[in-house]
Amino acid sequence: MKPALPLLLSCLLAACATTPPPSPTVAVKLLAFNDFHGNLRTPNSGVKQPDPNRPGKTINVPAGGSAQLAALIKRLKAANPNHAVVAAGDLIGASPLLSALFHDEPTIAALDAMGLDFSAVGNHEFDEGGAELLRMQHGGCHPQDGCQAGPFTGARFGYLAANVIDERTGKPLLPAYAIRRFEGVPVAFVGMTTKATPAVVNRKGVAGLQFRDEAETVNALVPVLREQGVKAIVVLLHEGGTQTEGAGINDCKGFSGEIVDIVKRMDAEIDVVVTGHTHQPYNCELSGKRVTSAYSFGRVLTEIDLSLDRSSGDVIKHRAENLVVRADGPADQAQLDLIAKYAALTQPLEERIIGKLPAAMSREATPGGNTALGRMVANAQLAAMRDARYGAAEIGLVNLGGLRADLRPDAQGQVRYGQLFTVQPFNNNLITLSLTGEELLSLLEQQFDAKGEMYAWQFSSNVAYRWSAKRPAGKRVDVASLRIDGAAWDAKRLYRIAVPTFLADGGDGAKMLTHGRDRHVGPIDLDSLADYIASGEAGKPLGEQGIVRED
Ligand SMILES: [Zn+2]
Repeated sequence: MKPALPLLLSCLLAACATTPPPSPTVAVKLLAFNDFHGNLRTPNSGVKQPDPNRPGKTINVPAGGSAQLAALIKRLKAANPNHAVVAAGDLIGASPLLSALFHDEPTIAALDAMGLDFSAVGNHEFDEGGAELLRMQHGGCHPQDGCQAGPFTGARFGYLAANVIDERTGKPLLPAYAIRRFEGVPVAFVGMTTKATPAVVNRKGVAGLQFRDEAETVNALVPVLREQGVKAIVVLLHEGGTQTEGAGINDCKGFSGEIVDIVKRMDAEIDVVVTGHTHQPYNCELSGKRVTSAYSFGRVLTEIDLSLDRSSGDVIKHRAENLVVRADGPADQAQLDLIAKYAALTQPLEERIIGKLPAAMSREATPGGNTALGRMVANAQLAAMRDARYGAAEIGLVNLGGLRADLRPDAQGQVRYGQLFTVQPFNNNLITLSLTGEELLSLLEQQFDAKGEMYAWQFSSNVAYRWSAKRPAGKRVDVASLRIDGAAWDAKRLYRIAVPTFLADGGDGAKMLTHGRDRHVGPIDLDSLADYIASGEAGKPLGEQGIVRED
C-alpha cells in the first residue's frame, strides 16, 4: 500500500479548492447615461430600432421613465458586484413640470434612489445659477419657494466639475474627481462640462464662474491621479458628437462634433469618455478610448465593461453597449411611488386646460428653416410685447433649441398647462429691444454655420426673406427679398424685436442681440404662450411664412 501519495494529492486539491489564486484581472461594469432632463415619466419620444418584421426598416420603440431605468440598473448591478453608475450632466434643467415645479428636487431624489454614484455637471445644471447647483448637492430650502414638498437634503451622488472654476476661490466649484476601488484597484472619475457653457446658459446662471478647456483640464489631473496610484481614468464629459443620419445606437458612423478634437487632445492614460450634450446615441472607439453617449431623457443606458489589470491597475480592455430602456420593461416601485407623490401635487396645474389648437404644432422645419411651433411661439411673443408698456415690439423671435417638445392637442383639440411647460420650461422673461435694419440683417446672417446650413431663428409670421447656402458667408440672405409687415427692409430704421432673455444675452450665437438698445422687460415666455393660446389667436391659420431657401 502506498497511501502517502493519494493522501498528499487530495490535500493539495482541497487546498487549491479553498483558496484559488486571484484572477489577474478585475471586471468592472459602469452604467452610464446623460441628458436626463428630469424625465421621470416616459417621454413621448422613443428610440428608433430595426423593425424585426420589415428588414431595412425601423420602428419607434417607446423608451425611458425613471422606474424603467432604475429597474434596469438594479438588475445589471445585481449581476455585477463591481459596478458604478455614472452620468454626463444635464440631469436637471429644461425638465417637465413634474420636476421643474419643485426646482428639480424630485429628479435629484429619483437619481439617488436609482443608485447614481457620480455625475458631471452639464450646462443645464447652471440654469438657475451656481448657488442653486450647490443647493442641489448639499440640500436646503429654495431661497424664494422654500421647502414646497418637505425638507430637501441634497444629492447623495456626487456632482463633479473639474473645469468649472469659482472666480472667488480659484478652485473648482465642486470636486474635480472621485476615486472608487474595485477589489483594491482604483478607478478615477473626472467630471466636466462643455467649456461653451456660458454661451448656452443665461448670463446670471454662470456669473462668477470660469469654464476651462476640457482636454487641458483633465490632462493636468493625470499626474495628480498617477501619484495616487490611479491608472484607470474615466471622464464624464458634458460635450458630444453626432453620427450620420440613420446610424444605430451602437454605431459610430461618420462621427463628428466638438468631442472628436477634445478626445484627440486627451492624455493616453484616459480610458473611457462618457459624453452627452448632443442628445445622441453612439458607441465609438477614438484614439484607443471608449467614447459613449446614451441619447437623452433616460431612453438609453450604456453598459461599459472594463477589464482592469490587477497588478498594474490599468484598463486592458473596454467594451460598451447601448441598451434601450424599454417603456414596457419592468418598473421599479420606489420610483413609481416618488412620481405619484409629486404628480398629486402638480396635477391640478398640469391638467389645467389652456385653450384649443386646430392641429399639432411641430418643430419639423420647412426647407426654409421655419417650423409651425416656432412661428406660433414667436407670434405669441409679439402679441404679448406689442403693448407700449412692454416696449412696442414689431417682430417676435425665438430660437428653435428653446422649444423642447412638439405641442399636440388632445382629441378635442385642447392643450394643457403641463404640455406648454414641456415646450418652454426655461422661465425666460421676454425682452423687447431695438436693432437697426443693418443689425437685423447681421443677426439673420448669424444663424448660418460655416457651410451655410441654418440653425433657424423662428420669426413671427410678419417676417419674410429668401436665402441660399450657396452664397458666401455674410451674404446668404437676399436683402431685396427681406420684408417686415409687408414693407421693404430699411437699413437705417430701428426695429423693435421681442425675444427671450436667453437670446437677448446673445445665446445660441445670436451675438448681435447683445447690441439691442432700449430694452423693456415683459412677462415670462411660457405665460405669453398660454395667454396667446387662451385668446384663440393661435387657433387661427398661421399662413405661409415667406422664409424660403433658394438652393
Ligand atoms: Zn447640454
